[in-house]
Amino acid sequence: MDSVSSQFLDAKSFANVVDEIDTFIFDADGVLWLGESVMPGSPGLVDLLLRKNKRVIVLTNNATKSRAVYAQKLWKLGYNKKIGKESIVNPAAVVADTLKRSGLGSDKKVYLIGTQGIKDELDDFGIQYFGDGPDPVENHHDGSTAFIYGIELEEEHEDVGAVVVGYERHFNYVKLMKAANYLQNEKCLYVATNEDETCPGPDPNTVIPDAGPIVAAVKVASGREPVVVGKPNTPAFEYICRRWSINPQRTMMIGDRTNTDVKFGKDHGLKTCLVLSGCHQVDDIAENEENERHDMVPDYYAENLGSLVPSETVSTALKGSEIVKKISLAEEPYLPQP
Ligand SMILES: [Mg+2]
Repeated sequence: MDSVSSQFLDAKSFANVVDEIDTFIFDADGVLWLGESVMPGSPGLVDLLLRKNKRVIVLTNNATKSRAVYAQKLWKLGYNKKIGKESIVNPAAVVADTLKRSGLGSDKKVYLIGTQGIKDELDDFGIQYFGDGPDPVENHHDGSTAFIYGIELEEEHEDVGAVVVGYERHFNYVKLMKAANYLQNEKCLYVATNEDETCPGPDPNTVIPDAGPIVAAVKVASGREPVVVGKPNTPAFEYICRRWSINPQRTMMIGDRTNTDVKFGKDHGLKTCLVLSGCHQVDDIAENEENERHDMVPDYYAENLGSLVPSETVSTALKGSEIVKKISLAEEPYLPQP
């Protein structure tokens, strides 16, 4: 293993660090869950922190689902019920908040390249949108020419107050062309959820493009720079600061990516910890150090969240139901474990 300046954390050393932190911000994928499965041991750490009266915030870059849906997912995976919609931040919520705060008129609509998560959050604010879902090329072009020279836009330029871009599996040339044309109106905002290049999946040999390539395509075609709200960018941090009163020096960002989670923490003065249970590894920290990308070198790193829980706590938490069973079914007297 490469030697890096980041400090390795286990349950013992974490016990010292935890007293210096009031707020823990967790990334979700690769930290709290992996796809649809719980990250073993992570619910135990969240419980431990809540018992210590720490504030727990979940900050994901995934905008495909709303915060309410993520809260349900956390509960289904066995996380503490105290972590609800109000503890979660995702780019969909920040996009909706950004649009609301921008003074987007109620008569203006949003051209949306994105999925249900953004729709739910826009609905919460009563913001009108259109364009989501399939928009096949065949509906706009008969195939007689190589290029599509004209496109029928559903809305007048002046009625479209923003183009919002995120992950959208129906993204195609028609959507790109519409977005680029709406953005020719300088007053039309260009807001993007996140710029993650790829997202993790069950087969590490399959590349799964995330929102980043879609945001980039619209950027190049329109000549416009987006306001990107997700990690590592500032809108997500400002959103958190508006929702909670946090002291950055006593806040720790824990994630599995150096270029989003760690950079987000470093850029905003937070303590940072990389967990090796997801995307990036110690080699990546070493490479960032070599390239002098100190904004992507965490203060700490750990195997996973479960490794930060003292083993006696794990055995109590994991074996609680087993112990009860043992007490009621024991043939021999129950002896507490050391
Ligand atoms: Mg992650």
